[in-house]
Amino acid sequence: MKLIAQKEAQDFVQTGAKEFRYNREFRLTPGAKDVFTEAGVKLVFDEGAPAPAAPAAAGSPAAVAAGSTDDDKLWRSPETANLKAQICEMGRRMWIREYCDGNGGNISCRLGPDRFLCTPTGVSKGFMTPDMLCMVDGNGKQLAGTWKRTSEFMSHAAIYKSTPDAFSVAHAHPCYAGAFAVKGIQPPPRLIPELEVFVGTIAYAPYMHPGSPEMADEIFKRAPQHQSIIMGNHGVITWGKSVEDAYFKMEITDSYCRTIIHAQSLPGGVAIPAEGMSELLKLKQGIGLPDDRYDLKPAQLAEVDPWAEVCGQHGCSSPVNAWNPQSATETAPAELEALVKKLTEEILKNLSK
Ligand SMILES: [Zn+2]
Repeated sequence: MKLIAQKEAQDFVQTGAKEFRYNREFRLTPGAKDVFTEAGVKLVFDEGAPAPAAPAAAGSPAAVAAGSTDDDKLWRSPETANLKAQICEMGRRMWIREYCDGNGGNISCRLGPDRFLCTPTGVSKGFMTPDMLCMVDGNGKQLAGTWKRTSEFMSHAAIYKSTPDAFSVAHAHPCYAGAFAVKGIQPPPRLIPELEVFVGTIAYAPYMHPGSPEMADEIFKRAPQHQSIIMGNHGVITWGKSVEDAYFKMEITDSYCRTIIHAQSLPGGVAIPAEGMSELLKLKQGIGLPDDRYDLKPAQLAEVDPWAEVCGQHGCSSPVNAWNPQSATETAPAELEALVKKLTEEILKNLSK
């Protein structure tokens, strides 16, 4: 709840804006209403608008223009405008792919040394416009933009701090990767080349309060070697070398998890052989992407049985390989043969008596 009193209203009037949009998150004092009326500022109640939808009062952290000239220049540059458009487009894709529910998810990218562009809080990522984005520093202090920055920016900042290669970060709550997040299972490797090369091992970070310094610490540790991290009981955070690349990691991660979940309803299970894994990792190293397995020998790469990982260790009553139609038809005649042999022996024994 944000209280708009006479003082806040006067500050707002000074920005020159002629419309004050608010919703039930705002409480306007009668004095504030008088100030708006006298100044000819129209009050617009917009229920769908999130809490910070109204232009921020001058002097508040979310004031429209950036404080310093350099920041203002950066904020209004064509490069920033281009990145804002890219972030809105990736938000639209995340929403279309059902990766973000309600107002969930957030995207950011680097703008310059200690300057970042990020999405606002309280808005569907599928319907953002460039004017909604925010500029912040590495400590999350908002420097420009009329909307309040995402509350989860510090998880993004942790990646920028620990991983100089990260240009952009995306966070969402996609359902298939989310299934792994709520089961506390790290998706196993060795199943699909696309993931091995373009994402690598998906890391798993235990649950910490969203946006907290503890969450940031967990992300900080894992980001240099993992471009995709499942956050326990929460969602996924990915980084990339461009805004679209960060989004791609999200898409590949969720697709991979979706395939595993569907595959579990089928019998059997195979994995990429050791040599295949070595080849994929060589290819990946050539592209210059990070991976924590470059030092492993082929045999070590094949040590993980992906299907045992998914089904074996978390109370699954039927190991995936338990039902194998091929071996079932092979063993059945053998058992039958043994039975026939045993019966024949019995009969012969009885006959000879
Ligand atoms: Zn989240």
